[in-house]
Amino acid sequence: MVSSNKKNTLEELRKKVGYNKRLAWDVFSKKDLKNLEELNASYKKFLDEAKTERLATKEILKIADENGFKAYNKDSAQDRYYISLNQKTTALIIKGRKKGLEGIRIIGSHVDAPRLDLKQNPLYEEVDIALLKTHYYGGIKKYHWLARPLAIYGTVILGNGKTIEISIGDNPDDPVFVIADLLPHLAGRQREKKLSDAFEGEKLNIIGGGCPVPGSDKDCKERFKLNFLNILNKRYNIVEEDFISSEIEIVPAGKARDVGLDCSFIGAYGQDDRICAFTSLKALLDINEPEHTCVALFFDKEEIGSEGATGAKSRFVETVLCSILKNDGIETDTSNILAAFRASRALSADVNGGLDPDYQDVHDKRNAAKLGYGICITKFTGSRGKSGANDANAEYVGWLRNVFNKNSVVWQTGELGKVDEGGGGTIAKFLAAYGMDVVDCGPAILSMHAPFELSSKADVFAAYKAYLAFFKAP
Ligand code: MN
Ligand code: MN
Repeated sequence: MVSSNKKNTLEELRKKVGYNKRLAWDVFSKKDLKNLEELNASYKKFLDEAKTERLATKEILKIADENGFKAYNKDSAQDRYYISLNQKTTALIIKGRKKGLEGIRIIGSHVDAPRLDLKQNPLYEEVDIALLKTHYYGGIKKYHWLARPLAIYGTVILGNGKTIEISIGDNPDDPVFVIADLLPHLAGRQREKKLSDAFEGEKLNIIGGGCPVPGSDKDCKERFKLNFLNILNKRYNIVEEDFISSEIEIVPAGKARDVGLDCSFIGAYGQDDRICAFTSLKALLDINEPEHTCVALFFDKEEIGSEGATGAKSRFVETVLCSILKNDGIETDTSNILAAFRASRALSADVNGGLDPDYQDVHDKRNAAKLGYGICITKFTGSRGKSGANDANAEYVGWLRNVFNKNSVVWQTGELGKVDEGGGGTIAKFLAAYGMDVVDCGPAILSMHAPFELSSKADVFAAYKAYLAFFKAP
């Protein structure tokens, strides 16, 4: 039998040398819980406004404008400004007391999310139904997109050069769209197939309508397709060729919702990675005269490998850094740019996959992030032998851990799945290529890349607190 004295000593030893992650709900004060509800209420609103990368960018710029940010002006010094590219990628900058050469603080998230895009020649009809062909964007499970209400958002450039914005499906008076699924009664052959073969990309076709164009009879060719075009033309002035110069995205219809009887979770489309975009934006807005210049980056194209002019592989970060040096009155030559990057610190703000109660076997439970345990530091991502990973420096993780602990941030660590189970990547390695310190840091979510992703309200609040502490850190 162990005496109670000895038991106490062992407890003290465990406290002294052991590591235990903390459940945020056990740690938060009454005031925290009140602030948490307010923050999550505005997070849900943000998600409802930001259904595409363009709409997210628009919403970020609107909020920036309300908070005194102005467009970058190379001819005058600015305290708060923004640079935006193609309405898809944005940087918000708050000038620090120290010059850019002494290093800046960057939090980079992404505002694109997996979805279906319309093809350039989408419209056709089959069995007296008008249909639209799609091409999926990012990593999806194709069956998620069947038999569920869908909304259409897009930007169309008309023949006369005019830009038209489309939005159908999220207004309560709007119709929605859907991809039909095969009835179970006739799915015998489909059931025998491997999951990867059972659902074909070319069968992800949107049902657009089922009425023939008014005044037509059975001899009228493609009169269901014609009706769809006719309505589109009446409403938006669009003709069929305009699809070619358009970006039309199909996303799940519906608003962000509380989930669970205790309303502890948020369920919504696009939380990877708008959860980080929103919380880093909120943190930046609460910064005043920081020591280091603070930058929140909101990238596009992360879900397809950070490609293109608006992805993290582009020169956008350099453009932003040059603006900061100029704003500080410093020469923007290569050696200054590289020196400023090397002195800088960044968080790649992106989500991790939380420990799934039904699929615990794909995780290493000792190293998986759990919902409700605060923001997650992911030292490395990648697959197999860390292939494709930015493996953050221990020194940098040590610095960040101290910043979080000093500011009572609830945080944990996480690895995306078991060794050799799969993997993934983020923008971390593209920022790290400039020589700065970078680590992945964001909340863990469930059902990542599904049309209705799940986050913990506690982690949303913890992420905001973490990003705030990072921006403020000396
Ligand atoms: Mn992501
Ligand atoms: Mn993703």
